[in-house]
Amino acid sequence: MKAEQTGTAAEATGRTPAAAGRGAEEAGTVLPGPSLLEDPEQMRRSGYRVVDAIVDRWANLADGPAWRGASRKVTEPLLHGPPPESGQPLEPILETVLQDVMPLAGRIDHPRFLAFIPSSPSWASVLASFLVNGFNVFQGTWLESSGPSQIEVTVTEWFREWLGYPPGAGGLFTSGGSAANLIALVAAREAAGNPPAGTVYVSEQTHASAVRAARIAGIDGTRVRHLPVDADFRIVPSGLREAVRRDREGGLAPFCVIANAGTTNTGAIDPLTEIAHVAKEEGLWYHIDAAYGGFAVLDPNTRPLLAGLELGDSVSLDPHKWFFQPYETGCLMVRDVTRLEAAFRMLPEYLQDADWGPEHVNFCDRGLQLTRSFRALRVWLAVQRYGLDAHRTEIARAIGLARRTEARIRAEAELELLSPQSLGVVCFRYVGRPAAAPRSLDELNREIQDRITRSGLAMLSSTRLGRRFSLRFCILNTRTTAADVDLALDAILRTGRELDA
Ligand SMILES: *Cc1c(COP(=O)(O)O)cnc(C)c1O
Repeated sequence: MKAEQTGTAAEATGRTPAAAGRGAEEAGTVLPGPSLLEDPEQMRRSGYRVVDAIVDRWANLADGPAWRGASRKVTEPLLHGPPPESGQPLEPILETVLQDVMPLAGRIDHPRFLAFIPSSPSWASVLASFLVNGFNVFQGTWLESSGPSQIEVTVTEWFREWLGYPPGAGGLFTSGGSAANLIALVAAREAAGNPPAGTVYVSEQTHASAVRAARIAGIDGTRVRHLPVDADFRIVPSGLREAVRRDREGGLAPFCVIANAGTTNTGAIDPLTEIAHVAKEEGLWYHIDAAYGGFAVLDPNTRPLLAGLELGDSVSLDPHKWFFQPYETGCLMVRDVTRLEAAFRMLPEYLQDADWGPEHVNFCDRGLQLTRSFRALRVWLAVQRYGLDAHRTEIARAIGLARRTEARIRAEAELELLSPQSLGVVCFRYVGRPAAAPRSLDELNREIQDRITRSGLAMLSSTRLGRRFSLRFCILNTRTTAADVDLALDAILRTGRELDA
């Protein structure tokens, strides 16, 4: 059968006699060379090794450094090289990865990783990732992933309820908040009819991904307005209204405002309800970037601070931040999901079999990706395993720790609070004793941050608030305790005193 096909194909394509001869020679023989398939027992052994490595890492995380990194001078000789022509046994390569590659990185899930926005995925969510890769689910169409698509529908329904969105809202999982912001902005632009002078309004404190989204969407920098913020780093709604009016008079076409439910810098929550009023009056698409802060709605004590989240036309969420999922687990929710599909739906002829009717969501119709991974399983499995309750408790615990951190900073004469606790973020700096001020506080705090991070005790990051260099704690890891925060603050005081002596 195979021989016939080969022969026929050679004749039909009119290949040269030599080529046809080679085809015949190959017919019925097994091609030589290595296969990409592994022996099942070997698969189990190496799989167990990987599981052991992850479990060991988790068990010993607190004892190791919160950060390790190296310059290219170190990494290149260690790791760079040509691809080998032939394969090698798997175990030694895995050991190299475990010894030389993985350790040279921040331990984002370390209890004293307080930098940027940390993340600490739960075991069930990590297992889901492994499972999904092994099964290689294609989550673009219902035809190719009915069960998995149902889970994505179900989990986005959960999110819909948590946000307080009405029925008819829906969304999709994305690689993260950046992709969610981009998809939202394109949906907004399309809903507005893609006006050539389309103009977008963001906070001065907006995440850079919103500005990049505008650039990708063809909205140049002159049509991205950075709105001034108040003393608490929140958008001033009257400022938005004035900017929109002024731009309309100037011939521009305002179509979208992006507010924050938890800025990355300070955790600030914009006045979501007031901005909703302005957006409605002015006919703007209202996007809320809640990538970092959105899941705090699950904490009943914090929920009132996020009132108005349900008024957004769209909301970005990052389960890989405050819902304890591995990277890349992001999400975009849209109040009227038909507007999302209006912007992104395509039905090319090679996908004609995939149209099962509107109740069978083809997630490729809601965003950027056709080939998509099955990210929703991570959230689903983690919630099934630990319950919503445990997730809620962890969010509330992090907020409590941030509040406690603020209290201690206020109580320490040598520390100055630069922005109070909001969600899990606190900004402050070391100011030392009044008498001693031999160098600029910016320089001093940068040095403190650098020394502590290099020591491995804690991973710290910084920001600028106004013109001041600020240390910044972001607390959200499930492993972080009050003792960890105290260790980091003690180290800041100790290092500050040493440098300040
Ligand atoms: C992290 C973050 C983003 C970007 O999300 P990624 O998941 O890193 O792509 C956008 N907005 C806010 C407020 C964030 O905190």
